[in-house]
Amino acid sequence: MIIDCHTHLWRYPGELTEELARETFIMRKQEIDLNLTNEMHDAAVAKVDRAIVFGLRAPLTGFFTVNDTVADYVRTNPKKIIGFAAICPTEEDALTEVDRAVQELGLRGLKMSPIYGGWDPLHPRALQIYARAEELGLPIMFHQGTTFPRKAPLKYANPILLEEVALRFPNLRMIIAHIGHPWEAEAIVLIRKQPNVFADISGLFYRPWQFYNSLRLAVEYGVADKLLFGTDYPIATFDETVEGLHNVVQLSKEMRLPPLPDDLPDQILHRDTLNLLGLDDPAEA
Ligand SMILES: [Zn+2]
Repeated sequence: MIIDCHTHLWRYPGELTEELARETFIMRKQEIDLNLTNEMHDAAVAKVDRAIVFGLRAPLTGFFTVNDTVADYVRTNPKKIIGFAAICPTEEDALTEVDRAVQELGLRGLKMSPIYGGWDPLHPRALQIYARAEELGLPIMFHQGTTFPRKAPLKYANPILLEEVALRFPNLRMIIAHIGHPWEAEAIVLIRKQPNVFADISGLFYRPWQFYNSLRLAVEYGVADKLLFGTDYPIATFDETVEGLHNVVQLSKEMRLPPLPDDLPDQILHRDTLNLLGLDDPAEA
């Protein structure tokens, strides 16, 4: 079974500010379509068996996605699509929103981002959210790495900051998106020590040298089995991501670098992600 653990859904205009859209266009050096429809998302996940989808909630940098958008989409294909709620602890009603997202919307995990939202990973309201997530068995996908908006504080972005969270909430399943780029080494040493912390490989293949080093380091530390497949749609597509995994293995051969296992791309692609995250298969519900 192939699971894409990292895809986005949001409408623009509406759920992203114009300032954020401008910064996105500057970063991408072109205008891109930021309005993601259900049909576009269906097409993006056509080749995978299950997909986890979420928005991003971070008022500081202009992300105002609404969890109902994700929940409405999940209802169009409930045996395949798994929705996570985007939660920002800087908002007073964040804990209530976690409960609403689970009980009323049927969402099954959380997406959180200290750097986009401008909050310390040990923010008091964040700790309450982690406690609730641990109690309810909700995995949390963290964007714990760098990003482009000027106002997004790097001081909250390092994956090492999640060590304390993992120690205080040992049964909480966490995923470090993009192996915590550009702190992949920090993410890898963390997932080695903490049994319930994982990392996804989304959005990394277009920096092939860093991607090679990250995968090689994961192999050397013996944690390649904790790397999950994800695309970060709309930032990257399924085909590009799979090709990028194969290319980096090929690159290591051509350059006579310390090798990556030939079957590493397939291992990552067929990872038993739902089981690792403690999620029931929606097709069997
Ligand atoms: Zn993402």
